[in-house]
Amino acid sequence: MVDRITDIWGERTPHPRGTVWPARVDLHLEEGVAEGDVERWVQSACLLCSNGCGCDIAVKDGRMVGVRGRAGDTINHGRLGPKGLYGSTPWASSSDRLTRPLVRRDGQLVETDWETAMRRIVEVSKGLLAEKGPLSHGFYTSGQLFLEEYYTLAVIGKAGLGTPHMDGNTRLCTATSAAAFKESFGADGQPGSYTDIEHCDAIFLYGHNMPETQTVLWARILDRTRGEDPPRIVCVDPRRTAVAEEAVRTGGVHLAPRVGTNLALMNGLVRELFVHDWVNHAWVSEHTIGVDELRETVDPYTPEHVANICGVAAGDLRTAAQIFGESSGVLSTVLQGFYQSHQATAASVAVHNLHLLRGMIGRPGAGVLQMNGQPTAQNNRECGADGDLPGFRNWDNPEHVQQLADAWNVDAMTVPHWAPPTHAMQIMSYAETGSIGFLWISATNPAVSMPESARIRRILAGDQCFTVVQDLFLTETAQLADVVLPAAGWGEKTGCFTNVNRVVHLSEQAVQPPGEARSDLDIFLMYADAMGFTDRDGAPVVKWRTAEEAFGAWAAVTAGRPVDYTGLSYDKLRGPSGIPWPVNAEHPNGTDRLYTDGVFPTDTDYCETYGHDLVTGGTVSEQEHRAMAPAGRAFLKGAPYTPAHETPGDDYPLLFTTGRTVYQFHTRTKTGRARSLNQAAPDAWVELSPTDAAELGINEGDWVRVESPRGAIEVRARIGRVMPGAVFAPFHYGHWDPDDLADADHRSANELTMTVWDPVSKQPTFKTAACRVTRLRAGEGPAPAPTNTASAPAPGTPTTAPATGGGAVTSSHVLDETPHYTLDPSQEN
Ligand code: SF4
Repeated sequence: MVDRITDIWGERTPHPRGTVWPARVDLHLEEGVAEGDVERWVQSACLLCSNGCGCDIAVKDGRMVGVRGRAGDTINHGRLGPKGLYGSTPWASSSDRLTRPLVRRDGQLVETDWETAMRRIVEVSKGLLAEKGPLSHGFYTSGQLFLEEYYTLAVIGKAGLGTPHMDGNTRLCTATSAAAFKESFGADGQPGSYTDIEHCDAIFLYGHNMPETQTVLWARILDRTRGEDPPRIVCVDPRRTAVAEEAVRTGGVHLAPRVGTNLALMNGLVRELFVHDWVNHAWVSEHTIGVDELRETVDPYTPEHVANICGVAAGDLRTAAQIFGESSGVLSTVLQGFYQSHQATAASVAVHNLHLLRGMIGRPGAGVLQMNGQPTAQNNRECGADGDLPGFRNWDNPEHVQQLADAWNVDAMTVPHWAPPTHAMQIMSYAETGSIGFLWISATNPAVSMPESARIRRILAGDQCFTVVQDLFLTETAQLADVVLPAAGWGEKTGCFTNVNRVVHLSEQAVQPPGEARSDLDIFLMYADAMGFTDRDGAPVVKWRTAEEAFGAWAAVTAGRPVDYTGLSYDKLRGPSGIPWPVNAEHPNGTDRLYTDGVFPTDTDYCETYGHDLVTGGTVSEQEHRAMAPAGRAFLKGAPYTPAHETPGDDYPLLFTTGRTVYQFHTRTKTGRARSLNQAAPDAWVELSPTDAAELGINEGDWVRVESPRGAIEVRARIGRVMPGAVFAPFHYGHWDPDDLADADHRSANELTMTVWDPVSKQPTFKTAACRVTRLRAGEGPAPAPTNTASAPAPGTPTTAPATGGGAVTSSHVLDETPHYTLDPSQEN
C-alpha cells in the first residue's frame, strides 16, 4: 500500500454525478504482520475524527495490530485516512499506559487499588453533597466516549446527583453545530447526508479544512470533482488550503475573509440571493418564518461593504452567490473556522438561511453538514452528558423534564431544569472559585485544549476543587488531578457511537485493556454503586450492568423524539455497517436525509429550544415562541456583524488564530504515539505570511516568540500561506512529548487564546486574539511543519536546509500556479 503520510487521500476513484461512490479498501498492519497472520477481525469504526469510517480491527496474540476499512460501510466505502490507518492502534500497547489508579498523597500521585481510589472519590463527593448539595459537582467529559457511557453519566448527573454542571470538550469543537440546528430547525440533528456529495452540483465549505480534518470525506469529494459532471467548489477560509486550490481548479471561488469577519461575508451572500431573486418564494412561504426580518438585517451588506470589512473582492462574493443561486443542488459543510470564531452561531445559521431561501434542503444533493470535530461528539449532545437533556428534550419544557423523570423514576425536581445547562467555561469558572468543589474529567485534556491554558492549569492544580481524571495516559491534565483512574480505550471495550452524519456504528471489544484499566462505563457504574443513587422506589437509579443494556435503556428514552433509536439494537448493528437515525417502526432501516417533507421539529411543544437572540444570546420565552406559531416551519434568523472581542493594536499588531494539522488529533494522546504521524508533525510551529515575516526579519525555521496579553510561546516559524496580518498555530501540542523535546514547555497555542465565547452556543473563541511576534534566533532548518498541507511554505520560500522535523521541502510542481510540496522521502513514515 502507498504511504498515506505523503499521499493523504489515496488513489482517486472518480465517478459521474448520481452514481455510487466506488469502494476502495484501505488496510494497514503494523510492521512484521501480514494479512495471513491476523487471527481475528473485529467490527468497529474509526475514532480519530467525526467522520466515523467503518473499519475492522486486526487482532493477533491478544493485541490490536492494525485496521482495515469496511467496503460495505455507508460512510467510507472501505477507505481510511492517515490518522485512522496509522493512529488507531499503536497507543494501545504504549508502555506509558495507565494501568493502576493513582491518588495524590503529600503532593505526589502514587499508585493504589481501585477500592482506595473510589473510596477517596466517594468520601469527597458525599461530603460535598451533604455540605453544599449537588451544585458542588461538575463533570467535564469528551467527544470520544461511547454512547452508553455518556448516557450513563447523564443519568448519574441528572437523576442521581441533580447537577446542571455537565459539559464535554464538545463545547470546544461542536457546540455551534448543535446550536445552529436548534436555532434554525428547532432541534439538533444533521439534515444532510454524505450521499449529497454524489448528487450536488456545487459544494460550499465554510471554515472547513476538510482535507485535513476529515480526510476520507474529502477523498469522496475529490472523486466527484475528478469525475464526469463535477461540482464546483467554493471555499471560505482565510488560508490557502487544499479546498481553496480545488475551488480554483473546479471554476469555483476562494473567499478569504479577514479572520473574524465571517458573519459580514455571510450576510453579503444572503443579501445577493434576495437582490437577484434566487429565492424559492413558494417554499419559503410554506416552510419558513422570518424572511422579511432577515432581508432587512442583511440589506446593508452590499458586496462593496462586505469587501471593506472582509477584504474579499466584491466580484468574488458575487460569483460565489451566483454559484449558490443558480445551482440545482448545493451541499454546504461548516466547521471550526466558523464555530470557533466570535458570532459563531449567527454565521452558521446564515448557512442555513442560504439553503432555506432556495428551498434546498431535504432532497438529494441539497443539504447541510454542520460538522463535528470529534468522533462521538454527536452522542454527547444526544445523551445529555453535555448538559442538554437526553433525546433532544427542552430543559425549559416541563413536559419534557417529566418524561425523563418518569423514565428514571425520580422526582422531576431532581432533574436540573431551572436554568440553562452550565457550559464548560462556566464550569471552569465555578471550579476556580470553589463553588464547584468536585470536578470529574473523563477522556479529555483541558490543560492543553482549553483557552488561556495557564488559567486552566491553575484551576486544576488548586486546592479549591477536588479533581478526578480518567484517561488512557497521565496527560497534562491528569498530572494535576487528585485521583487518576486508568481507562480502557477504543477496541478494549464495547459500545456504539454516532458520527456527524447521524450514522450509528457498533464497536466491539477486540482485546483486554492493560493492567487494571476499566471501561469508562464500568468506572461510572462503580461510582453510582458506591454513592448509592436510588430512584423513588429505592432501586438503583442506573439499572444496567452492561453496554448492551445501557444501549437498550437509551433507545427506550429516545422514543418519539427526533433522535429515535428505538429500532436499533446491537444485533441489528452487527454485520451491516452504519445505520443513520432515526431508526424506528416507520424507518426500520434508518433515514439517510432529514426534512424531506419540509417539516421541521419547531412546534413549541416538541422543539429542543425556544431559541435565542443571535447577537446577545438572550433566550426566547415559551410564550414568545408560541406566539410565532412556527408549527413545523424553519426559522430564518439574522444578525448584524460586529468586530471581534480583541483586535490588533499598537502593542499586539497581529491576529493570532489556531487550528489543526492532518497528522495529529486533539492533544496527541493517540497520534503522538504513532511514529509515522508524529514524525510528520513532531513539534509546534507558527505560520506567518511572507510580508509579515519580511517586516519582522524572520526566516523560515527561525525561533520566534509569540505573545498575547495572556501568555507567550516560543516555537519555530513557517513562512506560510496565511494572509498578511494573521499568525496561525496548531493547538495540538502541550508539554508532553514522546521524544522528550527540551522546548516542549513553551509551545501550547492556548497559552495565548482568550476566555470568551459565542453568546448562543457558548463555544470558546479560538480564532481571534491579538498577538505580537519577535524573532529569537535562527533555527536549524525549516519549521517542523508538514509541507504537503495548508501548512506548506509560501511559494518561493527558501527551505533547502535539512529538516529537523516535519520534512525538508525538496520538490514542487505547479497546479494552476499554486505550488504543491512533498515530503523528503527520507523523512517519510
Ligand atoms: S477520516 Fe476520520 S474517521 Fe475516517 S479514517 Fe480518517 S480519522 Fe478515521
